Amino acid sequence: MYQFTSKITCMHCGGKYRGKKMRDKLAYSCSTYEKKGKESCSNNFKIKEDDLVHVVSTHLQLQNVRVEGSLGEHVSVIEVKDGGYRIYYNDGTDSIVNDNSNEYGIKFKY
Ligand SMILES: [Zn+2]
Repeated sequence: MYQFTSKITCMHCGGKYRGKKMRDKLAYSCSTYEKKGKESCSNNFKIKEDDLVHVVSTHLQLQNVRVEGSLGEHVSVIEVKDGGYRIYYNDGTDSIVNDNSNEYGIKFKY
């Protein structure tokens, strides 16, 4: 199930991220890039549903937020830029995920 549909914005073109299967896994990618190609938006960074679920549920646990229903209901917007993204929550907190050219792998700030 795509829990974050319509929450994710591409900061390169202002377009929305849409659900797209990636090797049988749920993922999201920039709808401009998908529809019009890299001439319209060069951002081909994909976000896996599993990664969002991991970061959002960890963040909410650390904040002692009790999750009822969808994780996406706690998220106000997710901004994607330069191979990373920032998750803004309804309570004003945020998480940062930077996947960009980091020799140590993905960097999280829950
Ligand atoms: Zn885009």
